[in-house]
Amino acid sequence: MLQVAPEVNRQEDARPKSVLIADSPEVRADDVLVGGSNSAFALPVRVCLERGYGSRVWDESGREYLDFLLASGPLILGHAHPRVYDAVARQLSKGSVFHTLNRPALELASRLAEIPGCVEMVRFASTGTEATLHAVRLARAYTGRDKVLIFAGSYHGSHDLSIIGYRGAARAQSGGVPRSAIEDTVVARFNDISSVEASFAVHGSSLAAVLVEPQQRSRDPSPEFLPRLAQLCRSAGVVLIFDEVLTGFRLAFGGAQEYYGVEPDVVCYGKIVGGGFPLSAVGGRCEIMCLADPARASASTFVHISGTLSGNPVSAVAGLATLAELEEPGVYEHLHKLGERLRTGLAGQLSAHGIGGSVIGSGPIAAVEFSDPAGPRSALALREAVNRELILQGVLAQLQTRFYISLVHTEAEIDFAIDAFGAALGAAIQRLCAADRPLAV
Ligand code: PMP
Repeated sequence: MLQVAPEVNRQEDARPKSVLIADSPEVRADDVLVGGSNSAFALPVRVCLERGYGSRVWDESGREYLDFLLASGPLILGHAHPRVYDAVARQLSKGSVFHTLNRPALELASRLAEIPGCVEMVRFASTGTEATLHAVRLARAYTGRDKVLIFAGSYHGSHDLSIIGYRGAARAQSGGVPRSAIEDTVVARFNDISSVEASFAVHGSSLAAVLVEPQQRSRDPSPEFLPRLAQLCRSAGVVLIFDEVLTGFRLAFGGAQEYYGVEPDVVCYGKIVGGGFPLSAVGGRCEIMCLADPARASASTFVHISGTLSGNPVSAVAGLATLAELEEPGVYEHLHKLGERLRTGLAGQLSAHGIGGSVIGSGPIAAVEFSDPAGPRSALALREAVNRELILQGVLAQLQTRFYISLVHTEAEIDFAIDAFGAALGAAIQRLCAADRPLAV
């Protein structure tokens, strides 16, 4: 039986970072993994995870954490879900990858095409990055135009287009992005339709696509924003792409399309659709998707979308099993109820500690934003300190992203996370005050 309150040995944290990750000192993450990390961000406390089950994960030292990272979102059923693992085990006994048509991929494609909305046909890839990249390429080929409008602060993966505009600025946020990519990108402000109208007035006739996270980084769209965006795109012949890598099958089974009731031209799925295995999909109306048909390979508008592991049957059966579980009655009501409970509790802790900020998100997503009257550095310092304390409290969550909630999180676990957030706030305030750092209070 899992405990509600995971045991965390606070003393371990005093050990040097590199040694923390493993008991064997010769395995030093910083020596072999760039920044000791698998991605562009690293946890403030080095945690090397060994196993996960349900809502819990354990590190190599046996410490248990309540997991709200959920592998950055795909594990909406929690870790090692029996239905998913049974499907994967059965598939593994038949083969892991073929790079050809296979029944599980075909079934998953049919399932996606049945969802009410714009998806008639799909092409699979392995990551969300690829899905958004392919969607933009399809839009460019379809319209014969180059420019793409994105929103400041959005995230669409690791390619050039995505990085421009990330963290609010209309410039590359990564080295290695060519100037031409920046020149072809127009950046507007999410939830500010006048900024979109102004961009359309200047660039409308050269825009191939608007690429938008319908819920941008956990922030809901205002009721008029997405409908007006769709209208603008329609009248200017611009392809509207919903990046549903995060929202797909999370806000509702039909994702943001269903939840906000707005239909784009193209949708990108990732994370949940692969059930924790590498799979993503780009889908839309035949008219657009058929540009990638291999039978058209000699046409100038042929769109090359390919990947060695794309549509592999292991990921496809994991995705199918996950979607089947999500289609059970009451699932989304339950996920939304847990999300509401967490958001209310986190907001309560902010006010109990007199911290300025807000809790945003909907469905099984909760994100905390600190306001920063003392300047951006104070909010950042507080966020980093809370992130660190949360891990020490036994809760794996990072405020610069969000709390991801799974179907296996219990109300008691949500309450534990709320209490841990309160304790983390208290400890972070104390630590920052001791270091004489200004606070966002
Ligand atoms: N789009 C959105 C909205 C995302 O949240 C992410 C990943 N967090 C991506 C695209 C990129 O997906 P991946 O990391 O699988 O490449």
